[in-house]
Amino acid sequence: MDHDDLHHWSKRAADWAHDYHATLRDRPVRAPLTPGATASQIAPAPPEDAENMEEIFADFARIIPGGLTHWQHPRFFAYFPANASPASMLAEQLANAIAAQGMLWQTSPAVTELEQVMIRWLAQALGLPEHFTGTIHDSATTATLSAVLTMREQALDWAGLQQGLSAHPRLRLYASAETHSSVDKAARIAGIGQENLVKIPTNATLSMKPGALAGAIAADRAAGFLPVGVILCAGGTSVGAFDRIADCIAVAKTAGLPVHVDAAWAGSAMICPEFRDLWLGVDGADSIVFNPHKWLGAQFDCAVQFLADPGPQIRTLGLRPTYLETAGREEITNFNEWTVPLGRRFRALKLWFTLRAYGLSGLRTRIRNHVEWARQARDALAQLPGVTIITEPSLSLFTFALGSDAETESLLTRINDDGRIYLTQIRHAGRYVIRVQVGQFDCTEADVMTIPQVVAELM
Ligand code: PLP
Repeated sequence: MDHDDLHHWSKRAADWAHDYHATLRDRPVRAPLTPGATASQIAPAPPEDAENMEEIFADFARIIPGGLTHWQHPRFFAYFPANASPASMLAEQLANAIAAQGMLWQTSPAVTELEQVMIRWLAQALGLPEHFTGTIHDSATTATLSAVLTMREQALDWAGLQQGLSAHPRLRLYASAETHSSVDKAARIAGIGQENLVKIPTNATLSMKPGALAGAIAADRAAGFLPVGVILCAGGTSVGAFDRIADCIAVAKTAGLPVHVDAAWAGSAMICPEFRDLWLGVDGADSIVFNPHKWLGAQFDCAVQFLADPGPQIRTLGLRPTYLETAGREEITNFNEWTVPLGRRFRALKLWFTLRAYGLSGLRTRIRNHVEWARQARDALAQLPGVTIITEPSLSLFTFALGSDAETESLLTRINDDGRIYLTQIRHAGRYVIRVQVGQFDCTEADVMTIPQVVAELM
């Protein structure tokens, strides 16, 4: 296959994509779960000789769609969304065609410079103060790992990078039980260890208790541990919990500790000024992550990390062997020094296209609709005899259950086997509960109100 063939097949792929999206509403949201059903249709060994693209494409169309859970389906209410706006998809096509690797400014100045401008645009869109700069990672997990590695090295005065951790006191990191497992992963990978990730108790609204945070830090110091930093939750995965950011940052600052805020999901909602009270005080954070690839519409992968001062992270993650030097250009930014991987995709393009094609007002309307429709779905579910709302909407996320765990689990299985909507489960306060999040880019009020309709039918 050469570039002329690519021209032909790109058009075929665009036609296929158009049909795929046009028929999404008619498909079951979740793939039928028969393990091995896709793998059994793929040849067990790679071909020795080149195959015809007609056959390759036909196999794709025959085998793959039937094994997909359709993340862009308008009735996808599971997990958090991984929204791909049409404008973002177009930008990704162009980024794929260019296939640039933006590890250094000079390996594609446009890749670095557009990323810098998009970080500024997003900081403005979210109402963050001007001192925030930042970078784009593949995922919130990597951004949080980068923040935790930086906290570790700041606490060790950058000795850990050279000496490892064995010569140093036990490190301690603080977060609430509502934070995502990516925080646990970061503590493990950064050599801090799961046992040294101190989960601070939460109050009735599932916010970290600032007094308990202060107490834990003081007790650890008295016991000879070395606290490194605090991770705060702005929109937890299970029920959308928010820590009281301003109060917790005040405690961390008094203790001299840096703060990273995980707003992977809820960050997108902060383009709407009326939601910003939820993360009041965030301007005092050292690092903030949010995923435009969740709710905003810049498709996976695209995780933005804002940094109050990038210096400590660059000092932690940056390495400059001769082959990565940019002679005579000290003023430029080499983003590989801000992140864990060296190589970098051109992710800023889909942000640029998405923000321009819908405008902040268009994106705000979507998010406001999702929040409002989630409330309507919650109210309709609450009317159904036997349904209990377990947690009230946090933005567009709420949970409900039937009388017993067994009944709830069995209802969820029936819902997802039915295929019209897709919901997932969590455990909350010891109960098995069904979780509903509304946020798919193309969903309508009617799509959302399918939730109570399907539940009523299948109860
Ligand atoms: N933080 C929160 C609150 C999340 O909900 C998630 C994923 O859903 C993550 C972090 C991890 O995101 P990513 O898949 O970008 O690593």
